[in-house]
Amino acid sequence: MMSFNDALREKQTFLREGEKRLLIDGQHVSAASGQTFTSINPATGRVIATVSDGDAVDIDRAVASARKAFEGPWSRFKPAERQALLLRLADVLDEHYEELASLDTLDMGAPLLRTRASRERAVGLIRYYAGLAMSIHGETIPNSVPGDIFSYTVKEPVGVVGAITPWNGPLTLALWKIGPALATGCTVVLKPAEQSPLSSLRLGELCLEAGLPPGVLNVVTGRGGAGAALAAHHDVDKIAFTGSTRVGQKIIEASAGNIKRLSLELGGKSPHIIFADADLDAAVPVAAMAVFANSGQICSAGTRLFVQEAVYDEFVEKVAAFGNALRVGDPADPDMQLGPLVSEQQLTRVAGYLRAGQDEGATLLGGGLPAGQSELSNGFFVRPTVFANVRDEMRIAREEIFGPVISALRFSDAANVIARANTSDFGLGGGVWTRSLATAQQVTRGLRTGSVWVNCYQAMDPAVPFGGYKMSGYGRESGREHVEEFLNTKAVWINA
Ligand code: NAD
Repeated sequence: MMSFNDALREKQTFLREGEKRLLIDGQHVSAASGQTFTSINPATGRVIATVSDGDAVDIDRAVASARKAFEGPWSRFKPAERQALLLRLADVLDEHYEELASLDTLDMGAPLLRTRASRERAVGLIRYYAGLAMSIHGETIPNSVPGDIFSYTVKEPVGVVGAITPWNGPLTLALWKIGPALATGCTVVLKPAEQSPLSSLRLGELCLEAGLPPGVLNVVTGRGGAGAALAAHHDVDKIAFTGSTRVGQKIIEASAGNIKRLSLELGGKSPHIIFADADLDAAVPVAAMAVFANSGQICSAGTRLFVQEAVYDEFVEKVAAFGNALRVGDPADPDMQLGPLVSEQQLTRVAGYLRAGQDEGATLLGGGLPAGQSELSNGFFVRPTVFANVRDEMRIAREEIFGPVISALRFSDAANVIARANTSDFGLGGGVWTRSLATAQQVTRGLRTGSVWVNCYQAMDPAVPFGGYKMSGYGRESGREHVEEFLNTKAVWINA
């Protein structure tokens, strides 16, 4: 395994190489327009890299390259060869993980503590999909058609996949799409978020190093327009999208042109429900980190914290105290628990919700923006914030803030909290803390969300499906169902 200093040198070499260019057909190329944008370190506001600003013309080139690879060399890879390649890629990722983790820390501000800790998840995802690569198969299905006609199904890769990712977990979210695509034999055009493109570009290089044929994974950095061009492209067979519900709706519209397959992992406003009979000491840190981790920039964050009346005041105060004690600062400092938000735009958005919460009459229990001239004042920092006495109709209880802000609501009983939890348009995650099995069952059955965690929150595993109900999207990532999202089923009838 590479030492920390080697990784640091490698990252510096990657950043010093000049303009970070697109990766198309195994080659680094500038955007056809020659345009670039800059990537900013959100902890300091300083420019860290100049990046090619791809647009529809570059998407066109990348899709052509992906199509050529899909029909050419990649289609001749046997399942065992795709598996071996994915296992090699997992080893290469593991070897270079320090570099990748520090690129994400620099690019989007997640603390090193967090980006380093995602090593097992990232490498584990690729190993999981490697396992599935050899177990994809159709079925022999007896039919009742007169005569002796034999019928069976074959699973075939959908083809060229456009993978569009957000900024809140750049590396792992890209791997979550590339893994199943490669396991099934698809090819990919990856369009990472403009706020955090660096680790995706480096990942493209590492895939080539692992032996992936040129064109199987192409990386086009750019803004929303590049994503829109991919979503509308006639020769793209599927879009795997993670991002906001608003952009998800645009992708649905854009996909209509060629009726492409879609999987959409969208926003959330997840309920986290604490009953008075729960192990409250265990629940406090989990309820706090269910929102404060990654400075609240996690889609399944438990941002609507419902606490039963009898323990409301005590519990909410403890969560606020936990938040206040978190170390917030330079994310590259391995002791820091929280870094900045990703961008100035996101800071403005979150600051707007901090004002809205107070205007609507919620009680601010610490947190908020750092005082001026503090060590945090050059970056896009928000301190872990808890709003108490929040009511269902307030904006901070309904809208996704995507910052370290908890909205704490009171509830009386299970029926009351389930009904209120389900009023959200979103349906991504949900959590419940109780010592009563009957209450846990009632809540897990009642919540209309894609995941429900009991006496824990945000447990994730490559084998367990994750995804949304309602406006949090459709399709599942992880688990066998994920691989199905990248496959077509062909029925074959043989009259022998
Ligand atoms: P976003 O929707 O603004 O952007 C996501 C990606 O879409 C970016 O690459 C962007 O360039 C691209 N894009 C923008 N306009 C587009 C268009 N018209 N057509 C196609 N692509 C376009 O999201 P964001 O602000 O980067 O990320 C935060 C959002 O992502 C939050 O809503 C969060 O809940 C969601 N998210 C969901 C999950 C999940 O698994 N459900 C995981 C992480 C993040």
